[in-house]
Amino acid sequence: MKLRIAGIVRESVVDGPGIRLVIFAQGCPHCCPGCHNPETHDPLGGQETTVEEIVEQVRQSRFIRGVTFSGGEPFYQAEAFSLLGRRIKELGKDIVTYTGYTFEEILALAEINPYFGELLQVSDWLVDGPFILAERDLNLPFRGSRNQRIIDVRRSLRQGKAVPAEIA
Ligand code: SF4
Repeated sequence: MKLRIAGIVRESVVDGPGIRLVIFAQGCPHCCPGCHNPETHDPLGGQETTVEEIVEQVRQSRFIRGVTFSGGEPFYQAEAFSLLGRRIKELGKDIVTYTGYTFEEILALAEINPYFGELLQVSDWLVDGPFILAERDLNLPFRGSRNQRIIDVRRSLRQGKAVPAEIA
């Protein structure tokens, strides 16, 4: 399956726990003022690749703990990223997904587009909500503004409400 990405960082320590391969999704509908990655907004920009090509890169990345889906907006390509997420989980890697949607919005949108639910379910952690310039805090681990939460997805789905992750 095809997907569009803005780029890949092979080893990052600032996008979730441990050393991570980071995939920047291309395309974002949120238009947050002050966004650090405006080049990722155009859904026709970036480069086309395939789930299989990225899975192969993950397979060859021996030192990573997990993979981070960043953006752009991974939920803009929810079908491709949910399939990619499933394949990555089969390799024993954990997944952090960044999104401009809130956890509650994703649950509501999953009623319309089941792939939103699937991408949520393959994610171990969700860093949710838009970047808000007035809430910017450079000291926060793994996120840019105070409104954004790091959510333990499995516990949240069990409890039916957003549960903060212990890495938060
Ligand atoms: S969701 Fe992320 S990539 Fe999209 S506009 Fe907001 S900060 Fe930028």
